[in-house]
Amino acid sequence: MIDGLVKENLVNINSQISKSCTQSGRTASDVTLVAVSKFQDDGKIDEALSAGLRVFGENRVQEAESHWTARRAQYPDLQLHLIGPLQSNKTKDAVALFDVIESIDRISIAEEIAKECAKQHKNPVCLIQVNTGNEPQKAGVSLDDLPALIQKCRDLKLNVQGLMCIPPVNDPAAFHFSLLKKLAARHRLPLLSMGMSADFEKAIRVGATHIRIGGALFGDRQESSSPPSLLSAS
Ligand SMILES: *Cc1c(COP(=O)(O)O)cnc(C)c1O
Repeated sequence: MIDGLVKENLVNINSQISKSCTQSGRTASDVTLVAVSKFQDDGKIDEALSAGLRVFGENRVQEAESHWTARRAQYPDLQLHLIGPLQSNKTKDAVALFDVIESIDRISIAEEIAKECAKQHKNPVCLIQVNTGNEPQKAGVSLDDLPALIQKCRDLKLNVQGLMCIPPVNDPAAFHFSLLKKLAARHRLPLLSMGMSADFEKAIRVGATHIRIGGALFGDRQESSSPPSLLSAS
């Protein structure tokens, strides 16, 4: 690891955020950078913390626990976002750890989360992940099923605040960002989590309130060299 790399990347990302905000008449403080720390080693995570970052995203519950359970005591102002698909047997741990759950994608998991929230006296901010490209292999609720899922979350008294999407790789991302924005407005949801390393500037210009950045901040992930246990679904 080159010391200071994360800090240097962060300076560049922050200036790109400012620029995109200026171009679209927005304020940089209206955009939250979610630092995606999946597959990153302790050194990089600590570097991000010392650079002042406090909002982190993880897509596996177990890996998130190993990254954050101890650090939480040290950094009480941490805000942890679950950005990967949630399995029902991990709901209890997810509700215990995460402040924001961005990946609600079906009624059954909304019900499980609501049950755990009641048990643990918690009320995390919830976003619904939308499969805007209707890709069969991708997580997220279909456009057709979105209205019923939003209604269900509201009936369950979940603190549902927004939508999240990951555009199909080969489509123009801006189309999917605009679609997500339209859907959020239609359902009166203020938060929009969209945009990753390759396309966050576009997402900001369309109206993203949360951008999820891994590679551009931390450098390459160690995905290929991870043991199989890490790669299995959380
Ligand atoms: C890994 C991941 C990201 C970060 O992707 P980068 O291209 O590394 O910025 C963002 N969102 C989700 C849901 C992810 O799984």
